[in-house]
Amino acid sequence: MLWRRHTRESGTVTGPPDATSTFDYDARPVTPQVVLVGHRASSGGYALRDFLSRNGCPYQWVDIEDQDRVRALLQFDQVDQARLPICVLPDGTQLARATVEEVARGLGMVSGPSLSEYDLAIVGAGPSGLAASVYAASEGLRTVAVEAVAPGGQAGTTSMIENYLGFPQGISGSEMAARAAAQARRFGAEILLARPLVGVDPDGPGYVARLADGTDVRARALLVATGVEWRRLDVPGVDDLLGAGVYYGAGPSEAVTCLGCRVAVVGGGNSAGQAVVRFSKYASHVTLLVRGQNLGASMSRYLVDRVTRLENVDIRTSTQVVGFEVGTHLEGIMVSPGDGQDLERLPLDNLFLCIGGVPRTNGLTGIGLATDPAGYLRTGSDLSSTPADLDNWRLPRQPLPLETNLPGLFAAGDVRSGSIKRCSAAIGEGSMAVALVHRRLAETGGEADA
Ligand SMILES: Cc1cc2nc3c(=O)[nH]c(=O)nc-3n(C[C@H](O)[C@H](O)[C@H](O)COP(=O)(O)OP(=O)(O)OC[C@H]3O[C@@H](n4cnc5c(N)ncnc54)[C@H](O)[C@@H]3O)c2cc1C
Repeated sequence: MLWRRHTRESGTVTGPPDATSTFDYDARPVTPQVVLVGHRASSGGYALRDFLSRNGCPYQWVDIEDQDRVRALLQFDQVDQARLPICVLPDGTQLARATVEEVARGLGMVSGPSLSEYDLAIVGAGPSGLAASVYAASEGLRTVAVEAVAPGGQAGTTSMIENYLGFPQGISGSEMAARAAAQARRFGAEILLARPLVGVDPDGPGYVARLADGTDVRARALLVATGVEWRRLDVPGVDDLLGAGVYYGAGPSEAVTCLGCRVAVVGGGNSAGQAVVRFSKYASHVTLLVRGQNLGASMSRYLVDRVTRLENVDIRTSTQVVGFEVGTHLEGIMVSPGDGQDLERLPLDNLFLCIGGVPRTNGLTGIGLATDPAGYLRTGSDLSSTPADLDNWRLPRQPLPLETNLPGLFAAGDVRSGSIKRCSAAIGEGSMAVALVHRRLAETGGEADA
């Protein structure tokens, strides 16, 4: 039997399921039914690969340079470059210039809300939003979660979460995400995929969440669990290379496409360390570029030990990227060794940026949510320490622990000011938020019959 690892595309490395996990969801036997055709170094193709892989949807990637396979698949000799990426759906439909939304819709992954009003709408289905979905639905609340990409959030992109309680051998992020989403759905929570929140408006004592495709979701309480997104690298030319040689984060879908490539990872935290471990299995050589002097300052000891033992990995501290060398694709980067020496050129095929995050609050601006100076949402007693945040607070009580300065609008997980950026913390906050939502619903007229 054929087992594929990490992603379901052609050319993946084969091998037995990973014995360190209870069940390796990334190594399930698969038959790709979706085919993507495009340039590997294209941002559109990257977005599709990331979406399909994170949603556990098997696909085959055919590079446009592979003319025989392209001809056999599409049945014509010349492919107009403007039509790329092309997605061939299981029923044979071809989508030209395919977008994530179109592919999701074509695969039947897009459904509308089934109710005209919910007790709780959750924005983001990372660990925090999924935990809230499980607890809320299991406690009888009419629950919907809205997710821009795929269940699992950042955790869903992690090859192995080593420190989650009860999993002594670790658990892969995709396994955790798949299990949690199935659990939430089993209790009756709806999870609306592939549509980001683009706006929120007050709606009586509740809120209406507006989604990118025009769908409105009404709810008596709202929980924001949108996490963080990667911080941008401030080097000229980086935006032109995004998804085309330079990537924010290091999702599992990219590791196998780096077979035999030269890869560099920027960052000194655990996400950078995990990316290096993952890429080292496929790339010919991996360079870890760290701005600080010492790897141990921000990376867990177990990861430092693993990374330093890898034979095809080179670690450079006190080093920054200062420029790119681009031909038809990314060919190299210029790095500053930071010790007064001349700039150095590193030949390279792919650069992955794991340099920390900023809160994802797009779609939430404009309704007066209080944030800390870095943009994270303030909640609970934090709000009392900055009295101006509560200027418009009209209730006789203070905000509940995970409640923002808008009554009935809660925040949990990485997007919350002062949160601990860990899976278990995000899951704990998502679960705890549900208890607070019950209190808010009681205040606004009791809970509706489920
Ligand atoms: C590579 C990596 C490795 C990690 N390893 C570990 C580890 O070993 N142990 C550990 O404890 N922690 C680890 N973490 C941290 C952990 O994954 C995070 O703390 C956790 O995922 C935070 O959960 P969250 O639900 O708050 O946010 P997220 O995981 O960021 O999820 C937020 C979700 O909201 C969605 N979203 C955002 N904006 C919108 C919008 N406008 N509309 C709809 N949806 C939206 C996003 O698509 C995402 O799915 C790791 C993180 C990374 C990136």
